[in-house]
Amino acid sequence: MFSQLTTLTGAKGATLTHLSNVRVHKIQAAVLRSGGRPLQIESLELEGPRDDEALVRIVSSGICHTDIDFCDDWDGDPIVLGHEGAGLVELVGKNVKGIKRGDHVVLSYQSCGRCSQCRSGHPAGCAYFYEANFGFARLDGSNALQRSGVRGHFFGQSSFATHALATRRNLVKVPKALDLELLAPLGCGMQTGAGTVMNSLKVPKGASIAIFGTGSVGLAAVMAARIAGAHPIIGVDVNPRRLKLALELGATHIIDKRRQDVPSRIRRITGSGVDYVLEITGDGKMNQVGLDVLNPRGTMALIAEPGGAEYLQEGRTIISVIQGDAVPQRFIPQLIALYEAGQFPFDRLVKFYEFHEINKAIEDSRKGKTIKPVLRISKAY
Ligand SMILES: [Zn+2]
Ligand SMILES: [Zn+2]
Repeated sequence: MFSQLTTLTGAKGATLTHLSNVRVHKIQAAVLRSGGRPLQIESLELEGPRDDEALVRIVSSGICHTDIDFCDDWDGDPIVLGHEGAGLVELVGKNVKGIKRGDHVVLSYQSCGRCSQCRSGHPAGCAYFYEANFGFARLDGSNALQRSGVRGHFFGQSSFATHALATRRNLVKVPKALDLELLAPLGCGMQTGAGTVMNSLKVPKGASIAIFGTGSVGLAAVMAARIAGAHPIIGVDVNPRRLKLALELGATHIIDKRRQDVPSRIRRITGSGVDYVLEITGDGKMNQVGLDVLNPRGTMALIAEPGGAEYLQEGRTIISVIQGDAVPQRFIPQLIALYEAGQFPFDRLVKFYEFHEINKAIEDSRKGKTIKPVLRISKAY
């Protein structure tokens, strides 16, 4: 990997001055040329890293629902998706502190680092969250894959590739003793599910919780609810395999919403409603169900899409949660410690695929055959 390294001499002229000594790397990346078409692994040229960036050789990348939504609907320029990368640092820009060549890292979401939300320790609420994660460019509008006519920087990474650029704000150093390949999903899905329970809702011991949607984010929430000591923990889904896994990972009750009426089942379980609802399905009808089963002063967290609140009474709250309000550099090491203690066995959700099987991995995830597909992209040494 990382075979060709070319140093270009900077051309004269104002617009090109920042390109002096730009390094260009030949990489392989899965390119989405238009929505609805399969991804194609192509050779691209990646410029960088800049002074505030590191070049990471990607060892593995999880596939998340947001990637799949883009695969279905995108109609802009060709792009490289992927936002759950794990890899080895190969090059470090001179302004990147605390990261060195050879470090094992997990890549998470990007933030600006300068707005009031970022400065107050809530980068998931970054004022530029959309631009930094879905802009397919750096925040200054530049794009490291421009030579190839492709756009990168998805979630500040674009990890469906042999190499990605990241900054100190979305790089998380992880222990070398751990299986690096496995850690990829911590960067988005696991952080979002567990972070919603532990950071955003701060679910206390003994609280009742219902989790609508037991895919990877929902199962991370189930594991976190068990760690928090919530009771009961009610998993709701349409897929019997996922519901069975929810029971094994900490759900005390499960409801197959195709066969059972969710509000009446919940009332039978708790005697009233629940203190917390996590709505991950994105199905508008489930927003209403969530409101119907929420106890007075209860809170519903919407993870899939904001909106849906028609009325609120008796002190109920609806919050929209991004990335579990987690600071990745603090929260991902916490999840790793819980995993090592046997309390957060997220490895049970993972199925590995080779990089060239990316379209099959996406299809298996769509069909619900695989909960968390992880692509093996290069060796971890
Ligand atoms: Zn994601
Ligand atoms: Zn910000």
